[in-house]
Amino acid sequence: MSKPRLATCSLTGCFGCHMSLLDIDERLLELMDLADLDRSPFDDKKEFDRMVDVGFIEGGCSNESNIYELREFRNHCRILVAVGACAVNGGVPAMRNVYTLRECLERVFISANTIEGGGLIPNDPDLPLLLDRVYPAHEVVKIDYFLPGCPPSADTIWIGLKALLAGQAPALPYQALKYE
Ligand code: SF4
Repeated sequence: MSKPRLATCSLTGCFGCHMSLLDIDERLLELMDLADLDRSPFDDKKEFDRMVDVGFIEGGCSNESNIYELREFRNHCRILVAVGACAVNGGVPAMRNVYTLRECLERVFISANTIEGGGLIPNDPDLPLLLDRVYPAHEVVKIDYFLPGCPPSADTIWIGLKALLAGQAPALPYQALKYE
């Protein structure tokens, strides 16, 4: 019997949630027994060529490329999981949402103390178009499950992935959702 397939992506985040997945340590061997890895930064597979069972979304959407990738995941993943604060509610990148995009760009590229004499706002057409604000994943596509935390602990990710790959809803213990 074929194994369930797992895909992962990192949108606007810091890759910390993927690092937390790697922190499951020796359970990575068990994960490899439970699932086949599909599109993911871990194997550098860039395109889907079939449906997969579980999609792991790190990060929110700050540019048009994020929106495209997230929709690709929604279209190819039976179960889609928002992993970590950035995917769940925008997280740290969404701190820019209290400013307009123009204010952010001018602060970073023109008036920042680190730029002598002012710079230019990049406008190369190859750069992904920035969105007016950072959107959490659920504001762009339907999300089936949320794993909170910044990042969610390795144990939280393991509990969630193991259940989902077995076709069950994750049941996180209180300790996995307690932050102090
Ligand atoms: S939730 Fe935290 S660890 Fe995960 S991508 Fe965002 S900032 Fe990084």
